[in-house]
Amino acid sequence: MSVANEFDKQADNLGMGDTLREECGVFGIFGHPDATALTALGLHALQHRGQEAAGIVVYDGKRFHSERRLGLVGDTFSKRHVIERLPGSAAVGHVRYSTTGETILRNVQPLFAELDGGGFAVAHNGNLTNALSLRRQLVRDGAIMQSTSDTEVILHLLARSKRARFVERFVSLVGLTNKKLVGARDPLGIRPLVLGELDGAPILTSETCALDIIGAKFVRDVENGEVIIIGEAGIESHKPFPVMQPRPCIFEYIYFARPDSIVGGKSVYQVRRNLGTELARESPANADIVVPVPDSGVPAAIGFAQASGLNYELGIIRNHYVGRTFIEPTQQIRELGVRMKHSANRAAVAGKRIVLIDDSLVRGTTSVKIVRMMREAGAKEVHFRIASPPITHPDFYGIDTPDKDKLLAATHDLEGMRKYIGADSLAFLSVDGLYRAMGHEKRNPEKPQYTDHCFTGEYPTPLTDKTGEIAPRQLSLLAEAS
Ligand code: 5GP
Ligand code: MG
Repeated sequence: MSVANEFDKQADNLGMGDTLREECGVFGIFGHPDATALTALGLHALQHRGQEAAGIVVYDGKRFHSERRLGLVGDTFSKRHVIERLPGSAAVGHVRYSTTGETILRNVQPLFAELDGGGFAVAHNGNLTNALSLRRQLVRDGAIMQSTSDTEVILHLLARSKRARFVERFVSLVGLTNKKLVGARDPLGIRPLVLGELDGAPILTSETCALDIIGAKFVRDVENGEVIIIGEAGIESHKPFPVMQPRPCIFEYIYFARPDSIVGGKSVYQVRRNLGTELARESPANADIVVPVPDSGVPAAIGFAQASGLNYELGIIRNHYVGRTFIEPTQQIRELGVRMKHSANRAAVAGKRIVLIDDSLVRGTTSVKIVRMMREAGAKEVHFRIASPPITHPDFYGIDTPDKDKLLAATHDLEGMRKYIGADSLAFLSVDGLYRAMGHEKRNPEKPQYTDHCFTGEYPTPLTDKTGEIAPRQLSLLAEAS
């Protein structure tokens, strides 16, 4: 099969288009004898970014080898024979998270194509679907046919995706050819990507926790719009995009990243504690104890408890052997998932007025269950505090926030939400409270410091001017969001 066809096929496989939203984790390493095992470990640390599937592609100097499977990293890559099947000193890996895309093997990354001049593997975090279609377009135009086997493909893809639609460029990725490891971060720096190093071998990965697990050194964040090319000769940095003010996704700090990661120079754990502190200041509760909704609510609950002088208690016990609830495709199974995941700890909550802290409220599924569970366990009063503002707008940059009509805060006012989840009181952190937790005085309305459209409805619009063409659906999403 020709290269173009292979890419077409892969683009089509991923091309469920707008409905396929992914938030993923990537890891790449160049020039290390244990590249595959290190990539497997890195992906293991990034497991929270995607539990649906995992894949590694490695190059041994002559051939590419790949293993891509549905399931957790450990299901596949903890096995010695699997690692041994993947010899080589340069590797890229991916953990995939998807809710709406079909759970099928051919969607599993890294995408890989064996080309005439060598192989090419790419693993991305965010939605590259349309960039691949764009490439198909470019190939049809005859634009870059001869460079398909080179890292230039990625450069062209990204640099020329000016013609592409708005969302397409919100992707960070790692790619591997027979000569180079490539990393690219989107022009607004929405998704994170960091550069690290182990025994002289450069690493590109989504979060610093993937460096820590293997004892690698953090070198620096990859900058917004930066493309890094790593080869035998060393590390090159390119800036193929117009310079823009970075607008990293604020939801990485609230929910997505692991708390021990440092994202954009900030400790995620510290930010989450601050969220709880700000929340306690803005919306204190008359209660006896603070109870986190584990695990995502834990750091904010610690902050809330410290700021309010209330005892912190483990009123809910989490079963760690169940995946994140959003993974399950149907509402029915999702509800089952929530019950499987959390249990009430009666000894801590019976007879108490409790403040429940969670990081965010999306559909309300978790909150409804948890409030009921706390009452059944004998809690006298249940006050719910959410350590982020109401999510009123859908997301299409990578994090799975459902359609607008499924977002509780898009369809209910505060009192309506309180009733829906059955709490005695309910409060959310304000947008400025969120920015204070991030170390800013407040949100800059002219130039917002982060991508925060789930809360504000303000999509990073400056980009639309620069990108020119926007597809009708994109426009309708933007219109609906405003
Ligand atoms: P809800 O149950 O209200 O639909 O969702 C809220 C819960 O889902 C919170 O506990 C939060 O930690 C988690 N959550 C928030 N955003 C996301 C996301 O994008 N993906 C997944 N898997 N969980 C999320
Ligand atoms: Mg949670």
